[in-house]
Amino acid sequence: MPHELNLILIGPPGAGKGTQADRLREDFRMPFISTGDMLRANVKDGTELGRQAKVHMDAGELVPDELIVAMADQRLEQDDTRDGFILDGFPRTVPQAQALDDQMARHGRRITGVLLLEVPDEEIVRRIAGRRVCVKGGHNYHVDYDPPKNPGVCDQDGSRLIQRDDDQPEVVENRLKVYHAQTSPLVDFYDTRGLLRRIDGTRTPAQVHDHIRAVIATLRLEDDV
Ligand code: AMP
Repeated sequence: MPHELNLILIGPPGAGKGTQADRLREDFRMPFISTGDMLRANVKDGTELGRQAKVHMDAGELVPDELIVAMADQRLEQDDTRDGFILDGFPRTVPQAQALDDQMARHGRRITGVLLLEVPDEEIVRRIAGRRVCVKGGHNYHVDYDPPKNPGVCDQDGSRLIQRDDDQPEVVENRLKVYHAQTSPLVDFYDTRGLLRRIDGTRTPAQVHDHIRAVIATLRLEDDV
């Protein structure tokens, strides 16, 4: 019986989490849960949660923990996560990580690994300026590093590519500040628990993908012992 692999992807905005998510989704059948995508879907659908979240998102700030934790809890209760999942963009604060631990423990589960994608700030700023996302499926591209076959058009679903509102330069600067202040403490949080695996995010998407797959294979083996 395969052991469940409950993984978290952590990294600054623009570290390549979305790009890797697209690739990993094809490799593994486990659900890929991105709180950013869930929030954007809520904004698009005009839900109450979307309305409350949008002000924070547009400013490059974090959405309050209680809103995020409730949304993530609900998603993780769903049956499709039972054999494992990959979380992208959650947790982003220590209280969120504690809430996630509690939620897992309530179900007799635990986080099995945390993958940290490391990229320096200067590189982040360069990357985000060229980042594009499709309006339909949220697939990610970069005009220089990971271009679509036809400019401005998504390879996967043919929809239009746009720049996210929160990828504007002034907002990016704030998102990086928020990352260093509120999310980077999670590195220690998970390192002291022996869960952290560091990935050099400055390499090509294909190299990063290979490294992540190798780390996941190792985690699977360790879990079998
Ligand atoms: P992302 O696509 O992961 O960069 O998320 C986009 C935006 O959604 C962030 O800048 C936050 O405003 C919000 N967001 C996503 N996930 C979280 C989270 N775990 N905690 C707080 N805010 C979040």
